[in-house]
Amino acid sequence: MLGEQRVVIVGAGPVGMVCALALNQKGVKVTVLEAEPAPVMDQRAASLHPSTLEMLDDLGVLKTIFPLGLLAPVYHFRDRETGELVVEYDLGELKDELRHPYVLQYEQYKLTRDIAAAYANESDFDVRFSRKVVDIIQHGDWVEIVADAPDGQERFRADYLIGADGGRSTVRKSADIAFEGFTYDERFIKIATDFEFREPHPEYVFRNYFSDPQEWCNLFKVRGERPEGLWRGVFPVRPDESNEEATSHAGVQRRMQRFFPKAGDYNIEYVNIYVVNQRVAETFRKGRVLLVGDSAHVNNPIGGMGMNGGIHDAINLAEKLSQVVKGEADDSLLDLYSRQRRKAAVDYVQAQTIRNKKMMEERDPVQRQAFFDEMRRGAETFAGRRAFMRNAALIESLEAAKAA
Ligand SMILES: Cc1cc2nc3c(=O)[nH]c(=O)nc-3n(C[C@H](O)[C@H](O)[C@H](O)COP(=O)(O)OP(=O)(O)OC[C@H]3O[C@@H](n4cnc5c(N)ncnc54)[C@H](O)[C@@H]3O)c2cc1C
Repeated sequence: MLGEQRVVIVGAGPVGMVCALALNQKGVKVTVLEAEPAPVMDQRAASLHPSTLEMLDDLGVLKTIFPLGLLAPVYHFRDRETGELVVEYDLGELKDELRHPYVLQYEQYKLTRDIAAAYANESDFDVRFSRKVVDIIQHGDWVEIVADAPDGQERFRADYLIGADGGRSTVRKSADIAFEGFTYDERFIKIATDFEFREPHPEYVFRNYFSDPQEWCNLFKVRGERPEGLWRGVFPVRPDESNEEATSHAGVQRRMQRFFPKAGDYNIEYVNIYVVNQRVAETFRKGRVLLVGDSAHVNNPIGGMGMNGGIHDAINLAEKLSQVVKGEADDSLLDLYSRQRRKAAVDYVQAQTIRNKKMMEERDPVQRQAFFDEMRRGAETFAGRRAFMRNAALIESLEAAKAA
């Protein structure tokens, strides 16, 4: 069992690693426990919004990650039925107020891997793989953590414990914190291909949303591990289609050809299928246990807000917890963390992602047109475009959280 004072973080995903780095840079010793034997090759998130880029810039990691990503200042909403561009948003319009007026398309596995490689050590930023946390016990002024390790069970001692262990969080369950919300009937499938969509469609940008009453799609470009990059399409999978059917060679080709017909098969790089939830933990703090990222809130990925919101949690918590650990502030500051970040999750990320999904899939033609008309009207003025982009980039959620 570790004897010295430190914060233990469960989960070396993007949020756990950013939280560990932020705490460590404030002079707090951290140990990260990760169930998997090495950084996870997780292909889920790929969009870092301007607000998150500022935070990563302040941590000093941006210069390392820029060359491995793609700058995407512009994003499009399209009506797939008519092929029409409904609205174009260009973050470049906000260059006078944003330090980084673009989205960085940068896959989450790179963030985890790159932080581990550049900063982790065996003393004050200690990342231990193959440690699956199975239980936590809160004592008066410390927390005991039980983990399965290659040579049997290990026990760790923490002044504070942070659960960054994803949507199925063992930390959240062990602390008996409810996870309120719902699960969608359909799943989402992500299909990655090296086909260059901008050859037949020079009008596409790196981030395209196609609304469609039958089958919507988000089509985004990422760099992957190659200079020419990859395109990833995310589509809904209806409840009557099995995972096996959807991910089979024939199923994937059918789906791609239905949406973007072309001669010959698509060369597929990878396919993943996801169950999608909208849930928020009833509190992000219980005693000495704190939740960040997906362990605290999960949402559908339309708009790319889950990891970004999680990184915002990590930075907010590191600021407050470092003061508490160093005896500079009372631990009631941690309740403020919970209030602020829960508000951002419920009022902004949940509300916006639920709305995004409705807009993408709306079947009622009148309601569909109403969505489009509202977007077009809003985008007629600079003030309207600015408001939309600030909301989509989670800037408004950060402002509102400050006031909570
Ligand atoms: C298709 C799709 C696309 C997405 N795109 C975006 C996007 O563009 N932008 C965005 O912001 N968000 C996006 N998201 C959401 C994003 O992937 C998540 O919000 C993000 O991964 C959350 O990060 P996290 O570190 O909190 O959790 P995770 O990434 O889930 O990491 C949790 C870590 O904890 C480890 N772990 C779990 N249990 C234990 C245990 N008991 N002991 C030790 N370790 C444990 C896991 O192995 C894992 O490494 C997308 C999601 C999906 C499904």
